[in-house]
Amino acid sequence: MTARYDIAIVGSGFGGSLLAMIAHRLGRSVVLIERGRHPRVVIGESSTPITNLLLEELATRYDLPAVKPLAKWGTWQRSHPEIACGLKRGFTFYHHDLDNPRHSAPDRSEQLLVAASPHDEISDTHWYRADFDHFLVREAQRLGVDYLDETELTWVTQSDTKVGLEGIRHGDKISLSAKFLVDASGPRGFLHRALGLRELEVPGFPATQALYSHFEGVGRLQDQQGIAGGEPRPYPVDDAAVHHVFDDGWIWVLQFNSGITSAGIAATDALAGKLNFAEGAEAWQRILSKIPALGSQFATAKAERPFTHMPRLAFRSATITGSQWALLPSAAGFVDPLLSTGFPLTLLGVARLAEIIADDWGTERFASQLQTYAVQTEGELLATARLIGSLYANMDNFPVFTALSLLYFAAASFSETARRLGKPHLAPSFLLHDHPSLGPACLRLFRRARQVRTRQESNELAEDVLRAIEPFNVAGLGDPRRRNWYPVDPEDLVNSASKVEARQDEVMELLKRCGFQLQ
Ligand SMILES: Cc1cc2nc3c(=O)[nH]c(=O)nc-3n(C[C@H](O)[C@H](O)[C@H](O)COP(=O)(O)OP(=O)(O)OC[C@H]3O[C@@H](n4cnc5c(N)ncnc54)[C@H](O)[C@@H]3O)c2cc1C
Repeated sequence: MTARYDIAIVGSGFGGSLLAMIAHRLGRSVVLIERGRHPRVVIGESSTPITNLLLEELATRYDLPAVKPLAKWGTWQRSHPEIACGLKRGFTFYHHDLDNPRHSAPDRSEQLLVAASPHDEISDTHWYRADFDHFLVREAQRLGVDYLDETELTWVTQSDTKVGLEGIRHGDKISLSAKFLVDASGPRGFLHRALGLRELEVPGFPATQALYSHFEGVGRLQDQQGIAGGEPRPYPVDDAAVHHVFDDGWIWVLQFNSGITSAGIAATDALAGKLNFAEGAEAWQRILSKIPALGSQFATAKAERPFTHMPRLAFRSATITGSQWALLPSAAGFVDPLLSTGFPLTLLGVARLAEIIADDWGTERFASQLQTYAVQTEGELLATARLIGSLYANMDNFPVFTALSLLYFAAASFSETARRLGKPHLAPSFLLHDHPSLGPACLRLFRRARQVRTRQESNELAEDVLRAIEPFNVAGLGDPRRRNWYPVDPEDLVNSASKVEARQDEVMELLKRCGFQLQ
């Protein structure tokens, strides 16, 4: 088989399939090439408000009506109940001391609950990727994208006008050419290896590993001793991305409506070695025994697939684009699953490449726009690494960890509000990392956060974080009366209207459009 296309996309995760659909909608001939076969289980499941906003924006702008309902729990459940999904009302954090296993302190000093939505209907979700990605790839095919699965690419060539690909499919040789190639095959993926691109260190980030699986029979954290009872939470603590944080690592627990729970641990080499991640299930049991609430939540759980050990999590490619190719952000680098930054970075990349294809295809600007894309992609990866690196450095100091995480929540809620108000220029970069005042302030805070030793230094840092986020804080973050529990309160947003250069009535209109029930 020999064929010519405008665009070849390697890798049919959600990133590859979405870009394939969009490029097809823009009138390009597209082939999507996958090494495996759907449905297949992959990790990377938890969405965020900014993820879902980006998904909704892409679906609207490029006329993908079947995709749009997947941007909210309520519409997802009505339109695609067959695609397994988890309810994510917020971000739940509990802090633990592995050397001193005990139940959670009742005074909230070792927990942080940040709601992302006021009720289930407009809530975020965890994507059960086997179903989710399978749906998207079928949708791409339905729209007219050529799809080649079970294809092992063996060779890539570049000339002035095209990229050539060779490979094997079902025992037959295939050969393709495309004017532009997008690598959506993940970290250390196809092009990185085929072109022999260099791997760079992720600066300021420790060497980390991961161990994870999918489970059946997991209980609810809210029923466990040390968690149950007390005042009503801003949302049920399990209907969230649940993070258990301890010195040198953290655990995620994501529950799906199919009875499956995704759980795993990311940790520095030092802790991974101590727990002996290479042993898989035994290492998982070892960590559960050090966190009583988790131990009882998983008491009757069974791993429904073998544990995966990733001996190295972070990745950064030295090169992100060439004259006729680009790596999606997810192929260009990865930091850590903490704070679910992988999806929004991937979708920002999809949106930027889609715009370049729409506006600059076949023009002289194409090459320079690709370079801008590479600079943005690298800048956002490094900004993510700085944030998460400083969180890793403070996993043993929960007040500082909590304060630093507010930098993320403030930037994310500000960006979401600005975009929803049609003012994306107020938040052009992920985490507002290149904002003229917040960007440098974050750099200073991250540097200081690595040197905090005393309680007074912790308090001063936390106060300085609040000062830095004040102009962007549209969610009442850091209000001491909330004592680490942050509900979604529409009043916060209305009172902060001027921060997003809006009138209060505009914000009220926005809240109604977004499904808030206002009194
Ligand atoms: C442990 C872990 C947990 C994570 N959790 C989260 C989270 O909760 N939230 C979040 O936002 N992000 C998370 N991420 C990041 C997230 O997984 C990625 O951002 C996301 O999967 C990127 O999607 P994608 O479609 O671009 O690529 P992928 O999902 O990586 O898909 C790549 C596809 O390419 C195919 N492929 C690979 N090599 C080839 C080849 N040579 N030829 C053809 N096809 C190929 C693969 O089979 C696969 O189908 C996590 C990552 C890890 C490692």
